[in-house]
Amino acid sequence: MIIRDIHALRGPNYWSVNRHKLIVMVLDIGDMEQRPTNTIDGFHERIKEKLPTLYEHSCSEGCPGGFFMRVEAGTWIGHVIEHIALEIQTLAGMDTGFGRTRGYGEEGVYNVVFSYMEEEVGLYSAKAAVRLAMALVENKPYDLEADIQIMRQIREKVRLGPSTGSIIEEAEARNIPWMRLNQNSLCQLGYGVNQKRIQATVTSQTSNIGVEIACDKEDTKFLLEKSEVPVPRGEIIRTEEELKASVNYIGYPLVIKPVSGNHGRGITTNIQTWNEALHGFASAKLISNAIIIERYLEGEDYRLLVINYKLVAASIRTAAHIVGDGKTTIQGLIDLTNQDPKRGYGHEKVLTLIEVNDMTLNILEEKGLTPLSVLNDGEVLKLKDTANLSTGGTAEDVTDLVHPYNIFMAERIAKIIDLDICGIDIITTDIGQPLPETGGAVLEVNAGPGFRMHLSPTKGLPRNVAGHVLDMLYPLGSSSRIPIIAVAGTNGKTTTTRLIAHMARMKGYKVGYTTTDGVYIQNRLMMAGDCTGPASAEFVLKDPTVDFAVLESARGGLLRAGLAFKNCDIGIVTNVAADHLGLKGIETIEQLARVKSVIPDTVFPHGYAILNADDDLVYEMRESVKSNVALFSLDENNERIIKHGKSGGLYAIYENGYITICKGEWKMRVSKAINVPLTFEGKAIFMIQNLLPAVLAGYIENFSIEDMKLALESFVPSPALTPGRLNMFRFRHFDVLVDYAHNPAGLSALKQMIDKMDGYPKVGIIAGIGDRRVEDNIEIGAVAASMFDKVIIRQDKNLRGKTEDEIIEMVYSGIKSVDPNKPVSIITQENEAVAIAINTAEEGSLLVLCTDAVQESLQLIMKFKEDEAKRLYDF
Ligand code: ATP
Ligand code: ATP
Ligand code: MG
Ligand code: MG
Repeated sequence: MIIRDIHALRGPNYWSVNRHKLIVMVLDIGDMEQRPTNTIDGFHERIKEKLPTLYEHSCSEGCPGGFFMRVEAGTWIGHVIEHIALEIQTLAGMDTGFGRTRGYGEEGVYNVVFSYMEEEVGLYSAKAAVRLAMALVENKPYDLEADIQIMRQIREKVRLGPSTGSIIEEAEARNIPWMRLNQNSLCQLGYGVNQKRIQATVTSQTSNIGVEIACDKEDTKFLLEKSEVPVPRGEIIRTEEELKASVNYIGYPLVIKPVSGNHGRGITTNIQTWNEALHGFASAKLISNAIIIERYLEGEDYRLLVINYKLVAASIRTAAHIVGDGKTTIQGLIDLTNQDPKRGYGHEKVLTLIEVNDMTLNILEEKGLTPLSVLNDGEVLKLKDTANLSTGGTAEDVTDLVHPYNIFMAERIAKIIDLDICGIDIITTDIGQPLPETGGAVLEVNAGPGFRMHLSPTKGLPRNVAGHVLDMLYPLGSSSRIPIIAVAGTNGKTTTTRLIAHMARMKGYKVGYTTTDGVYIQNRLMMAGDCTGPASAEFVLKDPTVDFAVLESARGGLLRAGLAFKNCDIGIVTNVAADHLGLKGIETIEQLARVKSVIPDTVFPHGYAILNADDDLVYEMRESVKSNVALFSLDENNERIIKHGKSGGLYAIYENGYITICKGEWKMRVSKAINVPLTFEGKAIFMIQNLLPAVLAGYIENFSIEDMKLALESFVPSPALTPGRLNMFRFRHFDVLVDYAHNPAGLSALKQMIDKMDGYPKVGIIAGIGDRRVEDNIEIGAVAASMFDKVIIRQDKNLRGKTEDEIIEMVYSGIKSVDPNKPVSIITQENEAVAIAINTAEEGSLLVLCTDAVQESLQLIMKFKEDEAKRLYDF
């Protein structure tokens, strides 16, 4: 068995528009194709024994035990691996359950698809499932527990912490998009100009000065004291002499703690003697040079959480402790407490495991105890000096008990320190009484406070504190999104994308757009190359200057990783034609259409899918969309269009020479096609076809007809505006047209235009493509033969798995099948082919270069133009 390929999808994809987190494994099961599970002795029993919980998988039978029934009756190993991969993730604490196993188009090769919670774990589970399945087939032992432990560890390493996780979950519930910006907890909420960032519970709006003040306990205390907020009497010291003076001045009981510290490190509380003071001084010194010495306050530890200057939650925190039973040792009681399933390592679970550390040993020592001592029945022993959750403490929600005075005080403190999100630590005997009355005080203010104790308190009501963060970042009526227009189809995507971007730019938007040529932000090329996948789309959506996104979204990225966005406002499909067939398990044009249909399927219900009514496969896509549908057609008498119009639908047509938008009975002419330079006086019908969805998109985005007319009429097919898409260079004695046609449909479209153009002879420079099917390359030759008087066959730089001779032979045979006498030259280097064609161009001829290396060819031809100008005008 061979894993040929394995990759993780992260967005809407071919397998599912709604389930984004999927692993796709291309599995060649080899001779297992001849060995379904019912033919393998004992397999059914072994899998049942190894993974009894697979009983829950109902599979196609639709009832518990269904999957086992399939195994008994006989199913293939790829299918079994899918179920194992899902189940072992569930066993490792990541419950997930979507799977599909389908033929890849080759005998014995399968696409095994299953969902994951954490990508790295999903990838691991795929490989582990293959190993386990083979062990079951071969009746060999297998250590499944080891795999599951590794998967747990990976999860702990990669997943977001509890506070960040809660904000992200809340964002998802509110349909606010988000992206992770690093391996840790830095995340982006929203898109483009409307983005906000969070890092754990610090937001992009959190004041830096506020964080700095909060991180310095001395400054915090000072500011609070000056504002008449009660704080424990104390001072900062650095030396033992100062310690002595302070002890005398403040008096026991005391607390000693480092100025900059957290998680209770270096703190000694309830100091009653000089010896203890010295001890505490030494341990605080390990953390910071400046040390706080202050009055020890009697009472309970409270945490008040203030978000957006409103108190949203309060808890009472209790240090890790045990209660004796007269029998069990201290260590035994700790172990027993740690067995609570709510306790886990670090922030893994609601509570943290209690660790016997120096702080605990000190406490025991002072009491003359060891971990092996036995406490009296009912005796309570605090194991830590501090009540932090991270040292094993517990928390109880007391939000509803906080006295209004204390609420007022907490909200005022948030303003004094200047923190939009803060956790205020208070010690008092009763939070239900005003602080000045109980003699309690504020210990410190925390920036980026943890939410864990409020989200899942050990006792009391859980509070959705993350909701308050989102209310603050995105108040009612504000938007987290920017318009996204996604463009799919076999041909015309880049052109349509550029056109829409041009229109939006003229409206004053700061447009970010992705194309086959690169990613552009406000017309500046940011990345060159084929940028039609999710990484490029994400690049645009991450850009904080962009307020309008137009995203060419090609098949490759969709199959490799899924879309970068879950929803778009407008999804366009220009057409579906045979191209890229036989790649990545997509064999038929119907399958190809399904890949592209992911784009309209992701359109918001209030948005529009813009579909080509002249293309059967594209027209069919309207059936699965959840949004409105707008259609376009080159033929105003197209029955589908007429029907759509009768029911009041929105559509665009080419009628009487006009690009026209219609809605029901209502009709608005945008521009005469011959006035749009891109159409070459109306000769380039395929360009008219690209204008139609573009104007529909503009209309939906509320661009005025006048603005769109101006945009279309100023969109010149120049190398700057649409490089490689119908760029015409007029030399003195001949013309050169550069175009990116690279499949039979594209070339046929170009032929329609070339047939209407003057020039003799017409010379075409064309190429086949290595990873396309034989019939497609032959077809390219055949179409070229019918377009040109002479053909030059060049070669792409990247041969994509075939030899030069093989590709040329296919194209050549295509040409000869149409016209055995057609003059054909073979000049494999594109640059050389262009140079020779230009240098030998006949008077009045038209040279058509179907290029692959757009920028290079354009540079070369412009150089020839320059040379000609120099010769003619002598400058
Ligand atoms: P964290 O990581 O929770 O912010 P920290 O290291 O910043 O902890 P503090 O919050 O100042 O330290 O103190 C931690 C704990 O120590 C308090 O929650 C409280 O239980 C105890 N403590 C600190 N100062 C005093 C005091 N003056 N009187 C009584 N207990 C105190
Ligand atoms: P790719 O998949 O390579 O990115 P694309 O879909 O982005 O292609 P464009 O770059 O806009 O398409 O156009 C490529 C070529 O396809 C054009 O140069 C033209 O020859 C042809 N073409 C453009 N629009 C259409 C159309 N609507 N129908 C058929 N062919 C077209
Ligand atoms: Mg604290
Ligand atoms: Mg393109």
